[in-house]
Amino acid sequence: MVLVPTMGALHAGHLSLVEMARHHGDQVVVSIFVNPLQFDRETDLARYPSDPEGDSILCEAAGVDVLFTPGLEEMYPRPPDTRVGVGAVAEHMEGRFRPGHFDGVGTVVIKLLSGVRPELAIFGRKDAQQLAVIRTAVSDLSLPVEILGAPTVREADGLALSSRNRLLDAGGRRQALRISAGLSAAADLVEDGVVDRGRLVDAVRSHLGDLRTDYVELADQDRAQPMAELDRPAFLAVAAWVGEIRLIDNLWLPGPGRVDRGVVWESGR
Ligand code: AMP
Repeated sequence: MVLVPTMGALHAGHLSLVEMARHHGDQVVVSIFVNPLQFDRETDLARYPSDPEGDSILCEAAGVDVLFTPGLEEMYPRPPDTRVGVGAVAEHMEGRFRPGHFDGVGTVVIKLLSGVRPELAIFGRKDAQQLAVIRTAVSDLSLPVEILGAPTVREADGLALSSRNRLLDAGGRRQALRISAGLSAAADLVEDGVVDRGRLVDAVRSHLGDLRTDYVELADQDRAQPMAELDRPAFLAVAAWVGEIRLIDNLWLPGPGRVDRGVVWESGR
């Protein structure tokens, strides 16, 4: 059995995880649960997109065997007294700007893994630090599950698919493109042999312009620690605000000179 955990408002990025799951297992379970424990802002939780009908149509068409959509009561009959406390891997980037976020992610993912008991669970590299957090927690707690990371799915113009994109108007969407444009400029530099953190970060920041930016950081894939030089597998991560909407994206860097720009989603495929 393969598990693909999500928070719903599904898009082609989620469906690429399902496709990967179908390659790897006989039964595919998609979970949809908007986990309040991992939200650090009430407004973000309140306006998080939800589309249960659309989600179930997409899952059916994608050949999902089980769609698991627990309610709040089912997941947390009472506020959990026991939580997963994630350490250094959650210290920087998202962990710094969203206090408590990764403890909430860790807690819900461990609950889902122990409830569903898949042999394999698939997560997107779009949330690169989350992937590192989950791999670390699974290894530290000796959970009998394999974790796979999947490439980021993008629109043809580069924008990384995200449920939160539904909250952007046309102007916001245009602004959001600065993020992927910045990462793409950094990708060109990496392919030209640049390994210096400062040069890569500056390339991204020059595209972000006046977008409010939480961070641009080069970090290693395993432990999500900042790096001065691209000398091992890494990701170059961005978190920036388009108005009230906070978006994250990253460039996956398998090593010096090597770039994985993600995959382009062709609508209608
Ligand atoms: P979410 O519903 O946003 O919590 O995401 C559920 C899973 O889908 C996570 O493992 C994400 O990393 C992954 N995901 C979200 N967006 C994308 C994308 N554009 N491409 C690939 N995976 C994604």
